Amino acid sequence: MSKIIVPFNDLYAQYQSLKLEIDTVINEVIANSNFVRGPYVDKFEEDFASTIGTKHCVSCANGTDAIFLALKALGIKPGDEVIAPAHSWISTTSTITQSGGKVIFCDTTKDTFTIDSDLIESKITSKTVGIIPVHLFGQSADMDPIMALARKHNLWVIEDCAQAHLAKYKGRTVGTFGDIATFSFYPGKNLGAMGDAGAALTNQDDLAIKMAMTARHGGLVKGDHLIEGVNSRMDGMQAAILSVKLPYLANWTKARQEIAYKYSKEIKNSVIQLPKSCEWSDHVYHLYVIKSNERELLSDHLSKHNVQTVINYPVALPFLPAYKRYNHSVEDFPNAYSNQHEILSLPIFPEMSTDQINKVIELVTHFNLP
Ligand SMILES: *Cc1c(COP(=O)(O)O)cnc(C)c1O
Repeated sequence: MSKIIVPFNDLYAQYQSLKLEIDTVINEVIANSNFVRGPYVDKFEEDFASTIGTKHCVSCANGTDAIFLALKALGIKPGDEVIAPAHSWISTTSTITQSGGKVIFCDTTKDTFTIDSDLIESKITSKTVGIIPVHLFGQSADMDPIMALARKHNLWVIEDCAQAHLAKYKGRTVGTFGDIATFSFYPGKNLGAMGDAGAALTNQDDLAIKMAMTARHGGLVKGDHLIEGVNSRMDGMQAAILSVKLPYLANWTKARQEIAYKYSKEIKNSVIQLPKSCEWSDHVYHLYVIKSNERELLSDHLSKHNVQTVINYPVALPFLPAYKRYNHSVEDFPNAYSNQHEILSLPIFPEMSTDQINKVIELVTHFNLP
């Protein structure tokens, strides 16, 4: 038991489980030299759109670009305000600034870590154009009130699904609620490439065309530059690898959920608060995030016993140096602020062995304050 090492994630284990299939397609892509876009990319776009349940999938270079492309397609103008959660990965909001908009942070809830839908309306002004809920850690934001507010105030919604492939809200797959849904296939995500990759999904034809044009230098046909775009393409190698992995995603998701259920059932320690899974959500546990006032001691204890943990994310967005210009104070986002001091992500990945899972449970359960 003591010799067992539990890394935070194990990307090599996933590669080994699919080695033959992955090596074969990599060689195929090289033999056909379909390096950027091409048939492998077309195929993955089709398969991923049908997996999530949208009409279009516009692939791009990464999940950050997917949000940028979505914002541009929705026609964001300088000074437009976009509401986003105070606790997320910075891509959710850096892209708002990058596309000319203004970030309006909204606090998250204390126990779900997603945007507090009760607070959104108080952030809406005459300049508000949209909301970007994030399905953080793999759990859906509370979409019904968010979509109701968007309809009432005529706002668009971009769902940031970077951590929530196949997560559901009231039985419906996330990514099908808003105008556009963005995904990341960064290697450590629930569906990960072997490099960077991302996609933006939508049911609206005009938005799909605008996003594709922006991603490809402003035109869908080489030489056409109807607008000024950027260069954000998926490469054939990543698309081929993602197509190999996509059929396994449902089982990997189940494996994550089973580990999470076991953690939640068997970890017993009064200084630790287990993650809340809402009754309306199918949480896909990109991360299993516990809370504790003693998280530094706990992470030291785990690390001493070869169990790796991570803090996602140690500083909520409004308090980062990058957003100093807004002069936010702790009282503006009390939940995000208190969560940033208590959260700790335990290892969770589909290839975890029973010994590894049990080791984490045992160490966390028997963690005592000195
Ligand atoms: C990973 C992530 C992104 C960005 O994806 P990249 O592919 O790394 O650019 C955006 N939002 C959230 C919530 C993420 O976790």
